[in-house]
Amino acid sequence: MQRQSMIGHFGCTRWVFNRYLSEADDCYKQTGKTMRCNDFIVRLVKLKEEYPWLKDVNSQSLQMAARNADRAFVNFFEKRTKHPRFKSKHSSRQSFHCPQNCKVLFPEIGTKGHIVLPKIGPIKAILHRRFNGTIKTVTVVREASGKYYVSVLVDDAQPEVVPDTIDFERTAGIDAGIKTAFTVVSQSGTEKIDNPTFLKKHSEQLKKQQKRLARCLRIVNVKENEKGEKVKEVTVSKRYEKVRKELARTHERIRHSRKNWIDQITHRLVNDSQVTTYVIEDLNLKGMVKNHHLARAVSDVGIGNFYRTLRYKLKAVGKNLIVAGRWYPSSKRCPECGAKKESLTLKERDWRCTQCGHEHDRDEAAARNLRHWVKLSESDKHRYGRNGRALEEEAIPF
Ligand SMILES: [Zn+2]
Repeated sequence: MQRQSMIGHFGCTRWVFNRYLSEADDCYKQTGKTMRCNDFIVRLVKLKEEYPWLKDVNSQSLQMAARNADRAFVNFFEKRTKHPRFKSKHSSRQSFHCPQNCKVLFPEIGTKGHIVLPKIGPIKAILHRRFNGTIKTVTVVREASGKYYVSVLVDDAQPEVVPDTIDFERTAGIDAGIKTAFTVVSQSGTEKIDNPTFLKKHSEQLKKQQKRLARCLRIVNVKENEKGEKVKEVTVSKRYEKVRKELARTHERIRHSRKNWIDQITHRLVNDSQVTTYVIEDLNLKGMVKNHHLARAVSDVGIGNFYRTLRYKLKAVGKNLIVAGRWYPSSKRCPECGAKKESLTLKERDWRCTQCGHEHDRDEAAARNLRHWVKLSESDKHRYGRNGRALEEEAIPF
């Protein structure tokens, strides 16, 4: 019953999300204006009359789907991301949000832990830790392996910590690289954080499982439906389904190890008593567009998640995370004399400055330059595209 209801929630929120995308696209084509999210939410009430199955689903979840779609559009219009894509029924990962009226019942002696969701009811759950405070949002995810996960966002009503003042001595620069995951330069020196080993370990296993999956039986028939559109009909063997789940579990394990790794490293950085401010590069341009090598590293190590985790942990203790301007040449500037190097290919790991003759390690120089960011004048910061403002949610698009 609950499983059916959750599948219903996945389906309906996906439907609303997709409906939003197509209406917003039509609206833009016809009027040249962006659609207003609140207008859509008003229309959603009428849509429920037209499509009564929407009523079986928590209306807050549907609204949340519309807001997510709206957000995806805003990110697209502000050139942070690509045009949002339709969510597919066949996508292996499904999710929905519940912004209100959710309850978490912690296990007591003799009872199991439960999560209570509106329109779904109590669901038995393994709860990883206890918390106090009000629940903001509950997100339900079904992973490709078929396992369900729930994440709960809690407001613990702690007053916000006033951020520390920024001074150069207690500032560190972090450069994200390909060979070395992160290079951190602070007053006490340079630290290189290597890429985690679990990726290599698991990638062999992934390859094997992918090969096995390729050998399993999967028949694709292309048929025409009533409208004359071509639709794919896929039939898979039982073995295919088994191997697919195994593969999905490996992916899941990698995700979990990655999260663990990120938690460890960020924990250490946040608790470095010598550092109160970290400066990172603007990922919008550098990660996504400038070179695809880094883009791969971004997804391997999870740079986006790394910075997101770092940001909220720093914020909790009153430390700062600053994003350098997107035009700041952090990898092409000589950290000794400030001369700009005209060309630097990705292969060049070391380079010598033609002005002052200093030899530089590529990653270390970049991290030093990022650290130097806090010394720039306000007008220079502005010239490089950012007025040194604190990192906000939308600055990490992935
Ligand atoms: Zn130089």
